[in-house]
Amino acid sequence: MRFMPNIIDGKKIANDIIQDLKNKVSILKEKPTLCVIIAGQNEASKIYVKNKIKKAQELGFNSILKELDENVTKEELFDTIRTLNNDENINGILLQLPLPKHLSEKDFLDEISPVKDVDGFNTYNSGKLFKGEKPYAIPCTPKGIMGVLKLYDVQLEGKTSIVIGRSNIVGKPIASLLLKENATVIQAHSKTKNLKELTKIADIVVSATGQKEFITGDMIKDGAVCIDVGIVRDENGKIKGDFEFNSISKKASLITPVPGGIGPLTIANLMVNTYELYLLQKGLKNEKR
Ligand code: NAD
Repeated sequence: MRFMPNIIDGKKIANDIIQDLKNKVSILKEKPTLCVIIAGQNEASKIYVKNKIKKAQELGFNSILKELDENVTKEELFDTIRTLNNDENINGILLQLPLPKHLSEKDFLDEISPVKDVDGFNTYNSGKLFKGEKPYAIPCTPKGIMGVLKLYDVQLEGKTSIVIGRSNIVGKPIASLLLKENATVIQAHSKTKNLKELTKIADIVVSATGQKEFITGDMIKDGAVCIDVGIVRDENGKIKGDFEFNSISKKASLITPVPGGIGPLTIANLMVNTYELYLLQKGLKNEKR
């Protein structure tokens, strides 16, 4: 059977999220404040950070950029985070990864106060997610994926899903979120031996590996929902995903392109997390956790 796939327009969904947020922020007396910390001169990181600050400003948030030297000491970075944790004017703290090699990402992510952890990467928030409980913030990319599945009314309960990739920032949290919605979750990774046998039985495929176009149409079940998180540049500098889009789109009922699929949703959800943490800190939103 040949399906006409629905191609998800991530840019439009992200614009809708931002527009909705703009309206909500416009009626606030004080504005949420996001602080982004970057250590070193990684060119890609500098662009990501610039885009995050720009989006925050577009929304009317206050934004602060803390640029630290490549050779920043552990003590200086710990001090920076602690000062921000204690500053009640700061609502969200984002530590741009990767850190310079002499610094342990885990130690510094865990230093961020869980209630200001806009990326949802520290152990408290990831532990909550793993247990199926409510973290203060859900990592932005998985949150974006779940938003798309909800928007398209994708039934998850009892469905077989495969997550390819097991990173702490995408693979593991998206698997926890799918499990929480009662999907049957297969978690595949670089050591998985029989990937095609597993992808073939999946109703939902989420791929987050950064391996260019390595998932092909013959690996996909007819009518599957296919979400591509991968971002990788080809030899001509063109952005590609994990999916071979042409062959998969002949099988999928729903598919995200790269670029223009999940990517724009990540930054939009970073802004949603900043706003939601602000509400929590100000006592404007009460949630049971
Ligand atoms: P990562 O490098 O930390 O993890 C990659 C995962 O892929 C690993 O768990 C590894 O086991 C798995 N993997 C690698 N090769 C494989 C193979 N041949 N078969 C099966 N599994 C394999 O990466 P990450 O941080 O999770 O990011 C994954 C991709 O998603 C990257 O391309 C990254 O740029 C992209 N990404 C995109 C967004 C977005 O906003 N769209 C956000 C985060 C990451």
